[in-house]
Amino acid sequence: MKKIDRILRSQGGHWVGDGFPVRSIFAYDREAQENSPFLLFDYAGPYNFPPALAPRGVGQHPHRGFETVTIAYEGEVAHRDSTGGGGTIRPGDVQWMTAAGGIIHEEFHSPAYTKTGGPFRMVQLWVNLPQKDKMAKAGYQGLTSAEIPVVELANGAGRARIIAGEMDGVRGPARTFSPINLWDVRLDRDATVTLDLPEGHTAMVAVLSGHVTVTDTGDGAGEAEIIRFTREGSRVTLKADGDAMLLVMTGQPLGEPVVGHGPFVMTSAADIRQAFADFQSGRFGAVEA
Ligand code: MN
Repeated sequence: MKKIDRILRSQGGHWVGDGFPVRSIFAYDREAQENSPFLLFDYAGPYNFPPALAPRGVGQHPHRGFETVTIAYEGEVAHRDSTGGGGTIRPGDVQWMTAAGGIIHEEFHSPAYTKTGGPFRMVQLWVNLPQKDKMAKAGYQGLTSAEIPVVELANGAGRARIIAGEMDGVRGPARTFSPINLWDVRLDRDATVTLDLPEGHTAMVAVLSGHVTVTDTGDGAGEAEIIRFTREGSRVTLKADGDAMLLVMTGQPLGEPVVGHGPFVMTSAADIRQAFADFQSGRFGAVEA
């Protein structure tokens, strides 16, 4: 059985551009090895945007050395990047962007959502790349809701959408560079579920809404809190107190240095200096007008 290692909480909210009111629950400047291969977890919303004339969001900016995974629950985000990748993600869709050797992108509310406004809720998770893949070619996987398989949990406890990795032999569509599970889990009112999480993986359960109790100890977590479990052991049993919306993340720790500055995460200070030099000299390409 996995035990609770620590409960991670946001230290306060901030805006990313004018489109993403986020609570940053963890970032790579603290406990980067404990959280490996995950680098950052921003919970955007829940929030209600009024209708607007111009799309809110964040303009062109670079990334290098990792992947950004954006999971849309409510609202719509349109993305364009320097590889020519792009698209709109809607509730249930996931954007898995591989920055790797370098990408420039922009993230804005879609024109349709801008016009109507309404509820907004997204997660952006940064997944580190192994050192050998950090300079790989950038890429973009737009995963639609229809492509993401659903597993019904035992005893009618709820359901899990398998974005990456595998549950009960059902595989998620995301291609990853290292072993990762990413499951969108909904627990029905007061349900209890036992999850089998890989021994040796960093394992986290993010509570997006509701509250869950880890039945082993009676400790729990509520909205915008992440339960990080020990790497030893494999099973965790959770009881929902009411309905609960969870994001379950596990990953094989990379065990490599994490040296980052803003949108660049590499394994040495020299690599970070190189990232700034490459970006400033235009080697990340451009988003086509
Ligand atoms: Mn970005």
